[in-house]
Amino acid sequence: MNIMVKFILQRLECKVTPIGRWKEWITQEAVPLPFLLVTDHLEILGVKMYESWSKTRRAAGEELEVKIKHIRDKWRRGRFYELLLRPHVVKTYLFSNMWHKAGSVNLLCTDLDKIQSEGNDYVFADCYLRPEEVVNYLGKNAGGLEINHIRSKALALFIKNILEDMNTNIYIDAVVRKYCKDEDVYPCPVKPSYLDVRLISKIKLVLSTSNRVYSSRHIYNTLLMEEFNITPAFKLRIESSYEDFSLQNILQFTRSKLIPLSVRSHMWKLIHKIRYSEIDEARIRLTNPSCKICGEVDIDRIHMYFKCEKLVTISEMFIRVLKVFDPHYSLEEIMDFKGKEEHPQLYWFIALTLFYIDENRRRGTCELYRAFMWSEFETLKMSKWADDDFLTAINILLELL
Ligand SMILES: [Zn+2]
Repeated sequence: MNIMVKFILQRLECKVTPIGRWKEWITQEAVPLPFLLVTDHLEILGVKMYESWSKTRRAAGEELEVKIKHIRDKWRRGRFYELLLRPHVVKTYLFSNMWHKAGSVNLLCTDLDKIQSEGNDYVFADCYLRPEEVVNYLGKNAGGLEINHIRSKALALFIKNILEDMNTNIYIDAVVRKYCKDEDVYPCPVKPSYLDVRLISKIKLVLSTSNRVYSSRHIYNTLLMEEFNITPAFKLRIESSYEDFSLQNILQFTRSKLIPLSVRSHMWKLIHKIRYSEIDEARIRLTNPSCKICGEVDIDRIHMYFKCEKLVTISEMFIRVLKVFDPHYSLEEIMDFKGKEEHPQLYWFIALTLFYIDENRRRGTCELYRAFMWSEFETLKMSKWADDDFLTAINILLELL
């Protein structure tokens, strides 16, 4: 029987052996089998468990880092999307590789930070400036980009598995009750090596906020809130730089399906002030900003978009149309990204105009601007999000140009 097993296994090993020699094998003395390997780890569903917990964590982190860097390097050769699409790409194709390990091993923070920066670097690949850090991780309805915060999500999955294990594993149940809920448990369970002070405090936090149903999304949100100290009174840093900041107005520019994705991404950069311009350059060099087109010094954003001599005719046309809807509309209000909720077509109009001006500051003319707006209107007609009322409103607006 053993000989037959040996025969089959050797064939499986693909050793090219003439069939005629099989009789020799039978008569051979027993030799160490070639398919038996001494290994220093157990591999369970793709997670390698080593003799010590620290080695397991280190090995899992290193393996993930290599894998994610490999994917990221491939993307460098040409995987370009608009800014607002990239967080989704990163979540789906980059970070998704690590959740099966993160659920069973509490990975090292240094490894997680490296993976996070690979993802964030991809999202902001064409941006010289970066927004406030918390904006990366906030939900889209809160004005953020909704990139996964790796530290929080990895820990959330790990904690979720521990809490779920409590229902079936008496030992884990005793450990959580003894060390996280501070109950008296007899006999006292041995403290597992992964249960450090930080993990205990995080589990206590989750237990204090959650009801009996532990969803990883709920735990993730709890940990994220704690990490960035997000309270009900929390405010984004950009809010102070605008007059009467209204998140609803901002979201109309960055989330409305009626505005093309490229324009929405451009608006997101403008609103969060990460689009690099002469003004930013001057701020970094500690000099007075000067216009690269007309040479005027000490300029502001309004000059760049509306007052510059190349753009005056376009901006006059633009503001004339806006004043039809509200005679008090000012250029300052536009640069503070204020729309009128009763006229939703103005969000489309303002966003497209700012996009056109940014793309064509040197060679923009009234005719080209008009042609651009009408061509965008033709594209809008094909969108399933635009209803007849909206299309009629835009049509009237463009007729006024
Ligand atoms: Zn100028």
